[in-house]
Parts: sequence; structure tokens; C-alpha cells
Amino acid sequence: MTIAAHSFKGKRVGVFGLGRSGNATVDALVRGGAEVLAWDDAPAASDMAKEQGLPVVNLHGVDFTTLDSFVLSPGVPLTHPEPHWSVKKALACGVEIIGDTEILARELAGTGAKLVAITGTNGKSTTTALAGHVLASAGLDVEVGGNIGTAALLLPAPVSGKIYVIELSSYQIDLMPSLKPDVGILMNLTPDHLERHGDMENYAAVKARMFALQDNDDLAGISLDDEWCVEIAAAAAKHTALSSFSVGAKEATVQSDGDTVSDTRDGTSVSLSQARALRGEHNAQNACAAYIIAHRLGLDAGQIEQGLNSFPGLEHRMEEIGSAGRVVFINDSKATNADAAAKALSSFKRIYWIAGGQAKQGGIAPLQPHFDRIAKAYLIGQDAPLLAEALAGHAPHIACDTMATAVRQAAQDAAADTSDQGEIAVLLSPACASFDQYPNFEMRGDDFRACVLALDGVQQQTKVA
Ligand code: ADP
Repeated sequence: MTIAAHSFKGKRVGVFGLGRSGNATVDALVRGGAEVLAWDDAPAASDMAKEQGLPVVNLHGVDFTTLDSFVLSPGVPLTHPEPHWSVKKALACGVEIIGDTEILARELAGTGAKLVAITGTNGKSTTTALAGHVLASAGLDVEVGGNIGTAALLLPAPVSGKIYVIELSSYQIDLMPSLKPDVGILMNLTPDHLERHGDMENYAAVKARMFALQDNDDLAGISLDDEWCVEIAAAAAKHTALSSFSVGAKEATVQSDGDTVSDTRDGTSVSLSQARALRGEHNAQNACAAYIIAHRLGLDAGQIEQGLNSFPGLEHRMEEIGSAGRVVFINDSKATNADAAAKALSSFKRIYWIAGGQAKQGGIAPLQPHFDRIAKAYLIGQDAPLLAEALAGHAPHIACDTMATAVRQAAQDAAADTSDQGEIAVLLSPACASFDQYPNFEMRGDDFRACVLALDGVQQQTKVA
């Protein structure tokens, strides 16, 4: 059951893009009393929607001046590389262009439900799930969704006191003209998805919109660990309450050294000592953000510590699959860019590293400071030669045809490792997109898991709920 979009009652609304979230949007609008014209250029999607009884109308033939709103699926280009034909048409007719998360935000208005929105280049999903877990562990009424898991309009309907923790991609922010979260979080900003945003300035400007309409009743939680975020924090502080956070030397409201999260406002400190799913500096950043959210929503230090330390983690993000003696097998398939992989590499001292796929702009050069942790690299996929070039002279590496070969070889070499470094990681953190070999990063991670669990002597890690 979708959330009925009452704020669109009596309106005429075009919807382009009939995937899972698009179909939910159409249903929500119809249930809210809107007249909906739904379309997708892929005949399979339009046909299936028609079969399901959705109001499918070819938008090519529709006069957009008759529409009150136009809802675009976040995967469809709004600006780069060039606006989609439907966007051009909506712009020419002056019709507002919005997304499903904008509809959710409008439905929350006046209900007493709260919106917590999380964005950034990396760590969005982990932080969204983590914050949701911490709040739910303390007994709050929480819904988690958006860009992660459940589409925004498939979540339960808003009631007073309910908290929506929503992950927002830049694409979704672009489609939320009235975005004004009760708590808005910006994790970090590094170059990624620039094909969709043109350049870094534009990308940062989209992320900054998270805070643009906030006032002093709202809270902005912004990392100070990169220069783009520092600038955005300074601008936000002029019109909204700001809690900054940092993992490192920066002066910030909330800080972490990796072992604890400390609140400089009152000297409170919570320990991360049992947080197995939050290994590494990057996860300390995620813990800081979750702390800020939970603190704002009234949780005490004990409740926050309990929640952070019982977080089971997310699949494909530094996910411990199993272990064999002191060798741990880590699935970080979601690390599709060098920055994310750098975080994983910095989380272990000795690593048998499986990487490769379709490299992003800049390749793996940013990983160089971590090359001394790599005992050996096992390179897969289309850009294995590019990665080999970057590693030459720094770390031993071999090309492997398949994930199975890479896992087998890495496991063998790790088992024979006689160094005294303690925990040894066989780590899939590809620093590349998966599309040359797999339909998506999830299937790449599933393949890694299956290959690891097929090895002799691997004890599977059971996740705590
Ligand atoms: P997103 O939803 O923003 O893509 P995820 O939580 O899914 O982020 O994590 C994506 C990848 O980035 C994972 O490989 C993870 O290990 C890494 N990562 C997680 N949190 C951070 C962070 N705060 N900074 C940088 N990298 C991170």
C-alpha cells in the first residue's frame, strides 16, 4: 500500500519513468485523488503498467501546459548530459518538475511526522540504516527508505511522532524544490557522478540545497572533513542550527577518533568498541552523523551507544562474510569509486585485495597512500590493466579471469601469510563500477560471498539482528 498523496487532490499530474518507484508514485497520486498521466519510453514498462491498471498515456502527445506538476524518475537526466525530452517540455511550459521524495515531504507537512534526510558522496546508505537502527533500538517510531530499500511512497503513512529517515541522492535533491528537513545531513563531497552534474561546483550546489530552506528550528549536520563541505557548513550556519562533525583534527561539534564519538558541547563520549560493522575511519564519520541525528531526536548517550554497537551492518559495505583463522573475508562491493575503496583499505593493516571492473575518472591513483597495506592484489574486469599500471612498483599483483580465481588465490596466499600483523583481510573493494561483468554491485558482492563460502574451512559470520 502506498502513501495516498492527498496534497495532489484534484491536480493533473504527469509521471515519467515507470520502474518500481514510478509505479508507486502513480498509485500514491491516484489514491490521493489526482488525475495521473503515466508514461515510460520503454514499451515493456508502459505495457506492464497498463496491465496493472495504471493510467498510461503517451506523454509525447500531451500538452504540458495542462499539467499542474510533472514527476520525473530520479534516474532520468534533468540537466546532464542534457535534459530529457520530457524535462525540456515541462520547462518550456513552466510546469514544476518533482520527484517521489518531494511528494513524501509534502505529505509530511502538518502531520507532526519528522523528516531526517541524508546525502553525501559516500556513506549515505550506511548512515541512513545506522541512524534508523539507533532510533528504532531506542523505541522510536521510525521508517527508513528513499534511495535505500523501500521507495519513499511505499513507506507507511505519516502520523504524529513518526520519523522518516530518508537517503537522498543528488538526483532526488534536484527534484525536491521544497526540501526542508528537520535534520539534514551531508556526509562528504568528492568527485563522483559528474557525468550527471557537469562539474564539482554544480554537484556541490545541488548537495547544498539540502540546507537552503532550513531555518533555526531545523538542524544541519555537516562534516568538516573536506573543503567543499566546510564551505557549505559556513553558508548553512548563517540561517540554521549547525552541528558539525569530523573524524580527524578539525574543530567540530561532534568528533571521532575511530574508537569513540565525543560531543564537544557537553563532553559526552560514546564508545564504538563493540561496533564490528563500523570498522574504519569512514564508519566513524557515519557514526558521528548518526549520533547527531539521535541526539537531536532526544536519545541519551547510553541509548546511542547501545544502538551504534548493535548495528548489524549493510550487505556489500565492509560486510564480514566469514573468517578462517586470522583471515577475515570482507565484501565491500559497493566501493565503486577510489574514495570509497580508500576507506576500506585504510581499515586493515594487511590486505589481499580484489579490485577492478570499470574504472572511474582518475582511476585508483588516489589509493596510493594505502598501497603499502596491500600484500597482493588480484585484479578482475575490464580495467585490470589500468589498475596493474597504477600498482606497478608499489604492490605485487596478478590478473584473474574470474572472481572465483581471485578469491581462491587470495585465500591461499592469505592463509600462507606469516607476518605478525594480526587480522589479515581478503578484501573485495573494487574501486570500480561492476557493469562490465555484473548487472550491478550487489550481484558482484553475491558472487564474492558465494566464492568465499565455497572455500574449505571458512566460518560464516552470523549477523546480529
Ligand atoms: P552510498 O549510499 O553513499 O553509496 P554506502 O553507505 O552504500 O554509501 O557506502 C558506499 C561505499 O563507501 C562502501 O564501500 C563503504 O565502505 C564506503 N563508505 C561508507 N561510508 C563512507 C564514508 N563516510 N566516507 C567514505 N566512504 C564510505
